[in-house]
Amino acid sequence: MTEFGTTLSSRELKKYRALINGLQCDGSSGETIEMICPSTGLPFATIPRCSAADVGRAVSAARAALGSSEWSSLSAGQRGERLHRLAELITQNRDRLAELEARDTGKPLSQGYGDIDTAAQYFRFYGGAADKVTGDTLPIATDHLAMTVREPHGVVASIVPWNYPMQIFARVAGAALAMGNTLVVKPAEDACLSVIETANLALEAGFPPGVLNILTGLGEEAGAALSFNPEVDFITFTGSPDVGSMIQSAAARNHIGCTLELGGKSPQIVFEDANLDKALPVIQDCLLMNGGQTCSAGSRVLVHQSLWDEAIDKLRTGFRSAVAGPYKDDRDLGPLINASQLRRVNAFCEQAEADGIPLLGEGTIAPDAPVEGYYTTAKVYGPVPVEHPLAQDEVFGPVLSLIPFRTEEEAIHLANATAYGLVAGVWTHDISRATRVAKALRSGQVFVNTYGAGGGVELPFGGVKKSGHGREKGFEALKEFSVLKTIVVSHA
Ligand code: NAP
Ligand code: MG
Repeated sequence: MTEFGTTLSSRELKKYRALINGLQCDGSSGETIEMICPSTGLPFATIPRCSAADVGRAVSAARAALGSSEWSSLSAGQRGERLHRLAELITQNRDRLAELEARDTGKPLSQGYGDIDTAAQYFRFYGGAADKVTGDTLPIATDHLAMTVREPHGVVASIVPWNYPMQIFARVAGAALAMGNTLVVKPAEDACLSVIETANLALEAGFPPGVLNILTGLGEEAGAALSFNPEVDFITFTGSPDVGSMIQSAAARNHIGCTLELGGKSPQIVFEDANLDKALPVIQDCLLMNGGQTCSAGSRVLVHQSLWDEAIDKLRTGFRSAVAGPYKDDRDLGPLINASQLRRVNAFCEQAEADGIPLLGEGTIAPDAPVEGYYTTAKVYGPVPVEHPLAQDEVFGPVLSLIPFRTEEEAIHLANATAYGLVAGVWTHDISRATRVAKALRSGQVFVNTYGAGGGVELPFGGVKKSGHGREKGFEALKEFSVLKTIVVSHA
């Protein structure tokens, strides 16, 4: 078989390994999973298929590391120094990690670089934040001193999806390690190699063995065993609502907390005074980023009726120019992650067309894109009926839905009329309207005259409704990854 002209026999596939207690290891069953390059549809590496027994070993290692003096005696500032060192190592290994991330996920190479740089920025941010977390003193009786302190949960389990492995891993690990937790991470079977590599760099950065463990394997095996493990103290999950419900049940079973980030159907509202030449390129780029496989993709555009024709013309032109190609060629978008995601996205489009929804514009696939890769074209549809799956469900592909509106009230109603509430965009130059609408939207983040799909290390991020609960990123994440203790001392 060939991959970009390189012949790879199954014996030559690069072997990646899990990381348990500071040691690179195979799963106890010895079974492996082939990693497929979405750009070619061909295997290029293998990972261990970790079992429940491996999960047990990793959680025990994380538990032991929590109590080890090597970790527990570090001050917050010393943990921060290690996070800074890790950021530095990621930057030194940027070329290698960016290529790996792009090859593994299919995203264009420049986006792979962006993800590696953002990951380094997370570790820098939380390295700096580690010793800035303070408690309160509370005025009770004059002969008492009452105070609050923030302590780690203990062993944190993190389940990471395939769309942004490096970024999502970094935002969790940065905050959780800053607060003194230990971690067991289960990245997705479809894309996890950058996470393995970065965890090995963490050892080099001085994180003691067992503080950061990586279990590779299947969600329903390793992921499920990790979520139900009674030795886990807190779970953080990013992925689909269905699996999110299972994670929450597992957390409830063990009476522990969890944060869930479950995607969205984020609206972009374009009012009649919006600058279309500024808004539409941002809307298109943010949707096509990572082939639309972004939880915060602004995939529903609500356009004021007066701008409808002009918006359609401009988006048609924009989408027609969008080319999908292999990660190495750094086109507008890469392939989707796997064959089933490709089928799923294409099925949404086929259904929309069968239901008579106009396809307003469509991009192309580069003629030299390998035929076995998981490519689909960028597409924009409209007007999409509000109740249609294309306007309600997370497609997770390069598909934009346009919906017209006439009044501000109608725009707010439409924007809120899905089960999700992750991010929203508001495009207007009327400051009063922008503020009113931002307050009326049921959404974890609202951007005005800009849109930050996926961006913003400093910005608290998370959803309401079916998009989940809890906040990651920014200083808020340090609260999620710690528990508040109140201490009262009588000095009477
Ligand atoms: P998913 O099944 O929810 O996968 C997310 C993570 O959960 C992966 O690490 C997965 O591992 C793991 N997992 C799967 N089943 C599990 C279980 N029973 N217990 C514990 N962990 C489990 O998502 P998907 O199937 O990859 O994608 C399906 C849809 O979810 C997408 O089309 C998209 O709409 C949505 N999605 C959203 C996000 C987001 O950022 N919010 C990310 C990815 C997907 P394995 O992959 O190894 O099975
Ligand atoms: Mg892959």
